[in-house]
Amino acid sequence: MRKKIVAGNWKMNNDINQTIALLDELIAKKPETTSAKLVVAPSFINLTTAVAKTNGTGIIVAAQNMHQAESGAFTGEVSADMLKSAHVNTVILGHSERRAYFGETNEILAKKVDTALAHGFTIIFCFGEELADRQSENHFAVVESQLREGIFHIAQENWANVVLAYEPVWAIGTGLTASPEQAQEMHAFIRNLIATAVSPAVAEATSILYGGSVKPDNAAEIFGKPDVDGGLIGGASLKADDFLGILKGIE
Ligand code: PEP
Repeated sequence: MRKKIVAGNWKMNNDINQTIALLDELIAKKPETTSAKLVVAPSFINLTTAVAKTNGTGIIVAAQNMHQAESGAFTGEVSADMLKSAHVNTVILGHSERRAYFGETNEILAKKVDTALAHGFTIIFCFGEELADRQSENHFAVVESQLREGIFHIAQENWANVVLAYEPVWAIGTGLTASPEQAQEMHAFIRNLIATAVSPAVAEATSILYGGSVKPDNAAEIFGKPDVDGGLIGGASLKADDFLGILKGIE
């Protein structure tokens, strides 16, 4: 059975006090048992606090990014070893905001993927087409090249540490959501690609999350599709009730 996952990307939101308050509320209100793993990705500066707070709760803390180099003169960056020493074992790579605003290309992301895997991280690897790509019906080709150039080079055994997150850029933070049918169509396409490029067993075992304006009122319908294994949530993960309402959509 593939893992179901609901992950919250808090982006550049929440200072330390707000991080603690949100985690307190999530911990207090989250169901005792759930079929999905709950992941939160606070900013770098709040990771240590988040790891300490969530200890023993089942909530997984992820970083939003990581540098590809081991160490050195990269002002403002954070390395794999730094994250590991803070007991962070999961990292989001390739978010569309990193690609758009920080120049992260498929080539850079392939290096980040290698570094993360070499350090034993679980990667949530993001990709997705822009509006113009979908309008020109180029969306499958764009997604395929993001995957082929960014992550399909890894060794087969490393796929156990990879979660994919399909996030159409036109649906991120816009209130526009891919319809459940559009999400399913792309997720099935991705699973097929993995089956051909890697192996049918890996395709079957890899969780593919959907991201893009998921809210409590549309989560169940999207997560109900056979190839959608959960969600990567931005805006709605900043409110505990909304985030947990989305988690409910996966049951
Ligand atoms: C995201 O940034 O990954 C995301 C899906 O954002 P939102 O849920 O706000 O669209």
